[in-house]
Amino acid sequence: MKLKEIGEFGFIDRIKSLCLISEENVIKPIGDDCAVYELEGSRVGLMTTDMLVENIHFLRNRMTPFELGYKTLAVNLSDIAAMGGTPRHAFLSIAIPEDVSVEFLDELYEGMLSLGKEYRVNVLGGDTAGSKTDLVLNIALIGEATRDQVLYRDGAKPGDRIYVNGCLGESAAGLELLLGDLDIKGTLRRHLLNSHFQPEVFVRQGRFLAQSGFVTACIDLSDGISSDISHVCRESGVGAVLHRSDLPVSPELKEFSDITGKDPNDIILAGGEDYRLLFTVQKDNAAELEKRYKDKFGSPLFCVGEITEGREILLKDERALLSRLSPAGWDHFSTD
Ligand code: ADP
Ligand code: MG
Repeated sequence: MKLKEIGEFGFIDRIKSLCLISEENVIKPIGDDCAVYELEGSRVGLMTTDMLVENIHFLRNRMTPFELGYKTLAVNLSDIAAMGGTPRHAFLSIAIPEDVSVEFLDELYEGMLSLGKEYRVNVLGGDTAGSKTDLVLNIALIGEATRDQVLYRDGAKPGDRIYVNGCLGESAAGLELLLGDLDIKGTLRRHLLNSHFQPEVFVRQGRFLAQSGFVTACIDLSDGISSDISHVCRESGVGAVLHRSDLPVSPELKEFSDITGKDPNDIILAGGEDYRLLFTVQKDNAAELEKRYKDKFGSPLFCVGEITEGREILLKDERALLSRLSPAGWDHFSTD
């Protein structure tokens, strides 16, 4: 059987139940942004790993080594943020082709460690190997949380409101700039490329959401909103309606859309790598959480839909018409 027949997530499903050999101390096995396991007392451990592969996730000659190192850690921090945890220690494994210089690697570590310093994350180890042609980077990151303040994908209930904590689609626009020959220069170009190369991470925001007690489910937006909401729905056994006109569009994405003639909502729905948090909140607590978040972080939360009974994921368009939203996000082995 070819991998594309079952896709990335079909593959993960296939191996999932086989992988749990002993349930001892395991709170959450495969299926969430991090695995969760018992530590002493009320503390739990979190563990996640994410890999960046040259020519799949990045083009080596289109970003600086600093940006590459930064992004490798950022995407892992984002998974800890999605669980409401505090990141602690990282391991970086790296497969290096011959044409990568020592100076390149120095700068790559500089980028990774600059973000490490910001979040007080050590690099405690890793592995180094050669590679024929492509550079491969993999971080394994451990973190911690309080047992009853962990955010999972599986707690969303019908009636809950769906939120994101920032504007979407800028990373996708940045990628389009990178790959295309669009005549966009200056600060707009830099801003969009930056969103793609050095995504903001929301560790403090994740912890705040976990501590609020109002959040029923959470995921970080890595694959794209249509795909990531489907993970929440599947794990929670619910459906969802996303409101197209409520998707938050930044002024920069709007400007990009005006220049390219593309609908910003289409860019958001098809794009990925936003690394914002997507989470669900009981309807009655939504206004209070919005207020507290704004007071604390000075930026708003955006309600983009609601959780429904059943399993369907629908998109409500500007004329209130509903259509089925198929996951358009990133799947490493999908056919389209
Ligand atoms: P994320 O996008 O948040 O990093 P993924 O979609 O990569 O999450 O992974 C979903 C779940 O599947 C996670 O629990 C992850 O640890 C697990 N997973 C992914 N690939 C593998 C693999 N090859 N073997 C075992 N578990 C995997
Ligand atoms: Mg994730």
